[in-house]
Amino acid sequence: MTILAPNPTPTASSEAWTMIIDGEQVAAEKTFSVYNPATEEVIAEAPDATVAQLDRAVASGARAFVGWSKTPIDERGKAVAALGDLIDEHAEEFMALLTQEQGKPRAGAEWEVYGSAIWLREIARQRLETEVVLDDDDRRVITRYTPLGVVGAITPWNFPILLAVWKIAPALVAGNTIVVKPSPFTPLTTLLLGRLAQQVLPAGVFNVVTGGDELGKRITSHPDIAKIAFTGSTETGRHVAASAAATIKRVTLELGGNDPAIVLADVDPAAVAPQLFWAAFQNNAQFCNASKRIYIHEDVYDAVRDALVDYARTVKVGNGAEEDTQLGPIQNAPQFEKVKEFFADSRENGHVFALGGEIDESQPGWFVPVTLVDNPPEDSKLVVEEPFGPILPLLKWSDEDDVVARANDTVWGLGASVWGNHVETLQRIAERLEAGTVWVNEVHQYSPYQAFGGHKQSGIGCENSLHGLNEYTNWQTITRSKNAQV
Ligand code: NAD
Repeated sequence: MTILAPNPTPTASSEAWTMIIDGEQVAAEKTFSVYNPATEEVIAEAPDATVAQLDRAVASGARAFVGWSKTPIDERGKAVAALGDLIDEHAEEFMALLTQEQGKPRAGAEWEVYGSAIWLREIARQRLETEVVLDDDDRRVITRYTPLGVVGAITPWNFPILLAVWKIAPALVAGNTIVVKPSPFTPLTTLLLGRLAQQVLPAGVFNVVTGGDELGKRITSHPDIAKIAFTGSTETGRHVAASAAATIKRVTLELGGNDPAIVLADVDPAAVAPQLFWAAFQNNAQFCNASKRIYIHEDVYDAVRDALVDYARTVKVGNGAEEDTQLGPIQNAPQFEKVKEFFADSRENGHVFALGGEIDESQPGWFVPVTLVDNPPEDSKLVVEEPFGPILPLLKWSDEDDVVARANDTVWGLGASVWGNHVETLQRIAERLEAGTVWVNEVHQYSPYQAFGGHKQSGIGCENSLHGLNEYTNWQTITRSKNAQV
């Protein structure tokens, strides 16, 4: 197994991986192992940051903030865009590394790596202009947007580089500095990004520290961090919000989801099946926005189910490093155990498997077969919880009010989709769904200009667009009297 350590010499040794603190590459006394989920082999040792190292990173961010926040926004934007160009230049390295540490096949790695470069360049162009609220004979009132200070970014393991970029780009464009903590399961692409960033950013503007959940807790309670940008599970999000509350930090929380897809009676089963398949199984269903409940109208239920089964049989699951692989493994051992619980629950409750259902653990790698469960009860674990793995319930509906109520009967509200040919019906149902993004006859279309965030317990705030940029600023109103005698 070749390890693509960023610089200077590719080796598999622990020394190759360093954090980025105050513009320097910093090792830690302790390290933790990073695994390739397709082989279960250790591919690298990553530094386990000490409390003192986190403090150093935050202090350097605070020092750098003084100059960076005063740097003209066009210059900040140029530096952020240049980081996007560096990703493009190192795309092959990023993609190989991403497949090794995350497990995703080439197509998914391309989407994520090139997407990260695009996001950096596009967010770099966004501006929050000062608003003149009032300008009459008596008074001039303006609202301007000022940066917050040091941002703490905490990211998950499913899209490690893209979800870091969704935080880094707006934070830096708005004039903040940042300390990023990637998931301990996928720290390597973020470490590579941090190292490259030092070519285009002043020291201390972009720090990367690596470690486990304890390090995350220290970030959320750190007195000198002004804002937490977090993507992860709803359960962790609750802890993050509680911890950040002590110092009234700003928070953006992008959390879990249980996205419904509603399939109308007028679809062509063969045409819609591949689209529904990828809506559910992209990134091996380790996707906050994966369609996790497919509600199919009873008139076409059997036909859509059978078309899904036929299509799923053509999809190759395997090591993402192999060219023809379309779906990789589950990313880590704890998640593999969690996914197995959904299989066990469905088996114990006598659910019917339209496809899959048996996990073969005789070979290395955390592999799970694509599994379709035929119309399980609405209150089953598989329907109510977020499996975050390739086991999907297909559910039957006949009445529009009923299916909308079932789709909305969840604590989550991240995304949803509606599929069919009758435009008014599609629009009517879309507007009734309680979700931050509702896709119609498509899914997973994101843009740097499109607000993305969750309703209900799927999160607070949003990422991307000027709304997302706004979350990295304070509003400041300045009101000046024109006639005062002073
Ligand atoms: P997780 O919540 O376990 O971990 C996310 C990050 O939080 C990791 O870096 C982890 O080390 C850190 N962390 C853990 N405990 C912490 C604590 N108490 N305080 C501070 N930080 C802590 O999530 P995960 O398993 O890595 O990711 C999967 C989850 O993320 C799923 O629920 C998925 O739906 C969600 N997700 C949401 C979005 C979105 O944009 N809404 C995107 C991707 C993933």
